[in-house]
Amino acid sequence: MIARLASPLERLRDRYTVVVIGSGYGGAIAASRLARAGQDVCILERGRELIPGEYPDTLMEARKELQANSEAGHVGSRTALFDLHVNREINVIVGCGLGGTSLINANVSLRPEARVFNDPRWPRELREDLETRLAEGFARAEAMLRPTPYPATAEPLLKLAALERSAAGMDAPFYRPPINVTFEDGPNHVGVTQHACKLCGDCVSGCNYGAKNTVLMNYLPDAKAHGAEIFTQVGVRRIQPEGDSWRVDFQELVTGHERTDAPLASVAADVVVVAAGSLGSAEILLRSRAAGLPLSDTVGHGFTGNGDVLGFAYNSDLPVNSIGFGAEPRVDVEPVGPTITGIIDLRDRPELDEGMVIEEGVVPGAIGGLLAGPFAAAAHTGGRDTDRGDTPAEMRRELESIARGPYHGALRNTQIYLVMTHDDGAGRIYLDDERARIEWPDVGAQPIFRQVAERLEQATGVLGGRYLRNPIWSRLMGHDLVTVHPLGGCVMAEDAAGGVVDGRGRVYSGTEGTAVHPGLYVSDGSVVPRSLGVNPLLTISAVTERCCALLAADRGWSIDYTLGAQADTAVLATATTTEEEEGSP
Ligand SMILES: Cc1cc2nc3c(=O)[nH]c(=O)nc-3n(C[C@H](O)[C@H](O)[C@H](O)COP(=O)(O)OP(=O)(O)OC[C@H]3O[C@@H](n4cnc5c(N)ncnc54)[C@H](O)[C@@H]3O)c2cc1C
Ligand code: SF4
Repeated sequence: MIARLASPLERLRDRYTVVVIGSGYGGAIAASRLARAGQDVCILERGRELIPGEYPDTLMEARKELQANSEAGHVGSRTALFDLHVNREINVIVGCGLGGTSLINANVSLRPEARVFNDPRWPRELREDLETRLAEGFARAEAMLRPTPYPATAEPLLKLAALERSAAGMDAPFYRPPINVTFEDGPNHVGVTQHACKLCGDCVSGCNYGAKNTVLMNYLPDAKAHGAEIFTQVGVRRIQPEGDSWRVDFQELVTGHERTDAPLASVAADVVVVAAGSLGSAEILLRSRAAGLPLSDTVGHGFTGNGDVLGFAYNSDLPVNSIGFGAEPRVDVEPVGPTITGIIDLRDRPELDEGMVIEEGVVPGAIGGLLAGPFAAAAHTGGRDTDRGDTPAEMRRELESIARGPYHGALRNTQIYLVMTHDDGAGRIYLDDERARIEWPDVGAQPIFRQVAERLEQATGVLGGRYLRNPIWSRLMGHDLVTVHPLGGCVMAEDAAGGVVDGRGRVYSGTEGTAVHPGLYVSDGSVVPRSLGVNPLLTISAVTERCCALLAADRGWSIDYTLGAQADTAVLATATTTEEEEGSP
C-alpha cells in the first residue's frame, strides 16, 4: 500500500522552523534530516502527488503530462510531470511532482571519480571533507536509496547483452552500475511496501509498480513519519527577509493554468532550504534578487549539462528490445529491464575532462509508437551506416517497424546510448518574463562532443547499426543537444564573487566577500560547480546530506539517523489513516 503524503493547503500554518522548497533529492533529504533533528518542517512542491499506478502509460496520458518553456512562452499545465525547457543552444528535461526528477529518472546511482572533487571550483571546505562528511553523505544516501546492480540471477536482457558486446568490441571496461530499483516484494527500510521490478522499461515515464526507489518511497515518507508537513501544487515565486526570519511567497496551482501575476500567499520560516533543482532554484533566487534580496552577481552562472549526449545504433544486426511496455500486456513483449542496466566506463583517462561513460537506455512505451517515421526519415537523410552489404535486410526491418510498430523490425534492433562527459560549464540561466531560460553560445561545438560521436560510432559499429544523433530532437528543435542532468546555477564557491553559496550551502548576502544570509540555504543540483561526468543524483544526495549535517550542527540540533521500528510504525500508521491506493495498477 502506498500512502498519500501531501496535506491539503488549508492546513499550511503561518510559520515553520524550516521551509523546504522542492521535493527532489535535495528537498526530500533536507526535509527528512531536519525533521529527524526534531524540527518543525514543511515542504512546498509545485507539482502534484502522483503515486504508482498514476504515471502515464499511453501517448494520450503522456501528452497531458507535458509542459514546455520556450522563447514563445509556456505551454501546458505548470504542474505537468515532464517539464521541457527549449532553448536556443541546449534543451533540458526535468521532473515536476512530489519526488521531483526522481520520478522520471533512470535510477543510476554512481559516485563520480574522486578527482572530480579536486577541482578548485569546489570550495576548500568541501574538498577537505572528502574523506569525512562527504564520504558519510554518500554512505547515508546509499543507505536510503538502496542502489544495487541489475541482479545476475534476473532475466537476461537483450539491450544489456548488446552493450556488453559493444564494450568487448571497443576493448573497454563494462559492468552493471548500481540502480535505485527494488527486485523483491515487501516493506522497505522506512516501512513502505514496494514491489519487485516487472522489467517493463518505463522508468523514465514513472514506475507504475512501486519498484523504483524514488524519493517518494524513502526520504519523503521518512520525513512525513518524523512530522514534516508536505504541500503540493505550491509554486514558490520568491523569498524575502522579514525581521529575523524569512517570508516565502507562493502561488497555489490548482489547475496549473493560473496567471503568474495572480496575488501571492506566504509562509514564514527561520530556515529556508531552496531545493527546486538547477533551473528552479536559480529562477527563485533571480526573482528574489529582482525583488530586492541582495545576492551574488553569479546567480544563474556556471550552468552545465553534465556533458550529456543522446545517440542511437539504429537498425542494427541484433534485436535489442529498447522500447518499454507502456500499456502493452507483458505476454507479447520480452523483458526490457530497467532503463539503464549497463555501463561502458571510459573515465580512466589521463585528462579528467576527456573521460566519459556510455549507458544503454529505453524509450518509454507511451511514446514508442511515435518513433518509426522520424527514425526512418533520419536514416535516409543522415547518420552513418557502419556496415555494408545488408541493405535489403535493413529495408525489410524498417518497413516492419512502420507496419507492425516499435516492438518489431528496425526499432526492435535499435540500441539507445546515453553518454555523460564533461563540458565547459559556461551556460547561464537568466530570467525572461520571470521564467528561467538558458544561454550557452556554441556549446555543441565543444571538441569533446566530437570525441563522444566517435566513441558512439565505434559502439554502433560492433552491432552493425546506423549511428544517429537524435532524430526526434533535431527535427523538432533544429539541434540535438539535450540534457537530463542540469547542474549549477547557484554554485558553491569560496566567496560571493565566485558563486552563490558557500561550502556549507549558505547563501552569500552580497556580491563579494563571505558574509551569508542567516538561515537561507540552497541544497540541490544547482550548487554543483562543475560537470560530474557521471549520473549526478548520488552526488547531489551526498552533498545535501553533508549540508544538512552541518546546518544541524551549526544550530545545536542532533539528527537521529537510525532506521528502525519507530519510523516503520509511524509510516504504516500514516498509511492506514490517509487515502490509500494499491501499489500495482
Ligand atoms: C529522463 C531522466 C533520466 C535521468 N536519469 C538519471 C540517472 O539514471 N541517474 C542520475 O543520477 N540522474 C538521473 N537524472 C537526473 C536526476 O534525476 C537529477 O539530477 C536530480 O533529480 C536532481 O535533483 P534536484 O534535487 O537537484 O532537483 P529535482 O529532482 O529536479 O527536484 C526539484 C524539485 O523542485 C520543484 N520545484 C521547482 N521549482 C519550484 C518552485 N518554484 N516552487 C516549488 N517547487 C519547485 C520541482 O517540481 C521538483 O520537484 C535523470 C533525469 C531525467 C529527466
Ligand atoms: S523497469 Fe518497470 S517496474 Fe522496473 S523500475 Fe522501471 S518502471 Fe518500475
